[in-house]
Amino acid sequence: MKIIAYSARQDELPYFEKFAKEFGIEYATTTKELTGETAKLARGFDAISTYTSNGKINEAWGVLEELGVKYATVRTAGYDGIDLEVVKNHGIKLSNVPQYSPSAIAEFAVTLTLAVLRKLPLALRRSRVQDFSVEGLLGRELNQMTVGIIGTGRIGLTTAKVFNAFGANVIGYDVYKNDKANEVLTYKDDLNDLFAEADIISLHVPLTAENKHLINRESLSKMKDGVIIINTARGGHIDGQALRDALVEGKVAAAGLDVYEYEEGLLKKDLSSEIIQDQVYRDLAGLPNVIMTPHVAFNTDVAVRNMVKMSTENLIHFVSAGTNDNELTK
Ligand code: NAD
Repeated sequence: MKIIAYSARQDELPYFEKFAKEFGIEYATTTKELTGETAKLARGFDAISTYTSNGKINEAWGVLEELGVKYATVRTAGYDGIDLEVVKNHGIKLSNVPQYSPSAIAEFAVTLTLAVLRKLPLALRRSRVQDFSVEGLLGRELNQMTVGIIGTGRIGLTTAKVFNAFGANVIGYDVYKNDKANEVLTYKDDLNDLFAEADIISLHVPLTAENKHLINRESLSKMKDGVIIINTARGGHIDGQALRDALVEGKVAAAGLDVYEYEEGLLKKDLSSEIIQDQVYRDLAGLPNVIMTPHVAFNTDVAVRNMVKMSTENLIHFVSAGTNDNELTK
């Protein structure tokens, strides 16, 4: 079996090699993103593996069909931007990797929280210029706080467990309650109750039309003064301008944002010598009480290994059984 992996990152290469050997298959890799044009590179391959973060991916499916490539997988949980109907219409079977390491994202959400609670960005900035003053660096303790988890699925529940282990009081909201969560959190039936009680709000829901801008001027007004917002889910959950204003006014004390609504076009590029035109991004990134990271919550050794391994298994099962547990095109 021959697979070509698109958008292959340096960190993934040893794993493509390892699992090619282990599963007795051939892997070719390219750093190019999958588009209508680059899909032509799949000539002679049985299957493709890709990431999803580009706007041109849906142009690829027709080309792959013409080349006789029937199987595809994304190496991510998310498949935003892929039109499954188009994939199906071209007779291609597509799968994702729904669970590669919930702990990777959960631990990152807690890392962002601790970093803003202890004002780490300001402390680091000062230390670098030999300013060892303590004024303005008063921190807060997680064990004294109530954390509101919105979305108690795989990642939200794992995050709740970590916050619970730190001694925080954890409350949660989900459209479906998870019995396993009751050991580490107390469910709120109404999201507004979570907004009213939480000192820290951490988002773990998928992005849908319904919960776009879940954090907006109105919901922010229902939150405690000095609330902390942590987002490792999707940028579209937050109205950036509303959050920026709430941070400036002091309604929100701090934010840790691994994702940003308009991150497409910024991600995976070194733009250090360019001026970013997005004023809301620049305002948020420039605030001393905000940490922004480039969508890296997933990025651990365990997660990257599992993404490559599980996506490879998806394709092997497609060939041997015609489907797999993670098929999105059933
Ligand atoms: P999951 O499907 O296991 O859990 C999502 C939970 O959200 C479910 O329990 C669901 O019932 C709940 N939910 C859905 N809509 C809701 C709503 N409107 N209100 C309240 N609850 C709602 O998903 P997961 O694996 O835990 O992933 C959660 C999200 O994390 C993903 O959708 C993705 O956006 C994000 N993510 C981010 C990274 C990163 O690197 N930053 C990596 C992986 C996943």
